Amino acid sequence: MAASEFEIIRRFFTPPGPGRNDVLAGVGDDAALLAVPPDSELVVCMDTLVAGVHFPKETAPAAIGYKALAVNLSDLAAMGAEPAWTTLSVTLPDNDMDWLEQFSRGFFGLASRYNVQLVGGDITRGPLNITVQAHGFVPAGQALYRQGARPGDLVCVTGSLGDAGLALHLGLTGEAPLRKRLDYPQPRIEAGIALRQYASAMIDISDGLLADLDHLLEADGLGALLRVDELPRSADFLSALDAAGPGCESLARDLTLSAGDDYELCFCIPELQRVAMEETLASIPCAVTAVGVIEEEPGIRCYRKDGSTYTPSTTGYQHFNRTD
Ligand code: ADP
Ligand code: MG
Repeated sequence: MAASEFEIIRRFFTPPGPGRNDVLAGVGDDAALLAVPPDSELVVCMDTLVAGVHFPKETAPAAIGYKALAVNLSDLAAMGAEPAWTTLSVTLPDNDMDWLEQFSRGFFGLASRYNVQLVGGDITRGPLNITVQAHGFVPAGQALYRQGARPGDLVCVTGSLGDAGLALHLGLTGEAPLRKRLDYPQPRIEAGIALRQYASAMIDISDGLLADLDHLLEADGLGALLRVDELPRSADFLSALDAAGPGCESLARDLTLSAGDDYELCFCIPELQRVAMEETLASIPCAVTAVGVIEEEPGIRCYRKDGSTYTPSTTGYQHFNRTD
């Protein structure tokens, strides 16, 4: 890259501040050297963001930096992990200093909120593409998996669903609250850690509730009953829907069931744990709603509040479908 790759790393990708004690070598050496705390397990994940696929092309650079890290922190949250370190690979069409400045601000803003240190990475020229890896810890034996749900467990979700999908659907831009939800998803780190002591299985919702709950169910060959009228919707979702005019109810239902990018947690929990779990999440605070029940019979069966069955029109986002 013409304007010195090393200059770019020094200016935009060298973490501010003294850094974490468990980073023995970080950005600037040939590789990072990291000390995993005793009695902990290391949790590692990686996600790539491609312009036009994972975010609209006109997305603000600060939002791209934020979201690239946020989606990884969401995966750590879904394992019940506490985040610690991250690595970052950026492929850029050119060395636009303004872009880099804003990207870096978005990335480090979120990193510092969770005491996550950038410990290395790579930089190359090409079509815009961001890959982030995140690393966290769980006390040995306490991680949550997709596997582990039992028939009779409640199916719960944090926060609200469909906001990011509605922002995309309405083509919202800039400062619209729903667009913020798409650009700056909140990784549910504190909830993920708190749920270690209650949940039997957990996953984060990146591709839509139906698609991601299905992954969780497949892990044990189970099924679920889902009450579609109880799926949590935010105040912003409801008012944007009102503004969009009448007749949007089935769109709203399908977005809450199937739209991606919300990065909420979906987890299962024995009924007996419900009250304690709700108190714990309320103290964070993190909203939580019980939306269904695990059943023996594979598949997801959706019901309306009048008891009728409901067939969603789509299931969720997939990069490769059968016709590809
Ligand atoms: P090498 O040529 O040995 O692979 P690089 O020149 O790619 O090393 O990187 C030099 C140092 O800068 C390494 O510590 C690397 O981890 C770090 N680094 C490179 N790109 C980034 C980036 N985008 N973000 C953070 N650190 C980076
Ligand atoms: Mg080297």
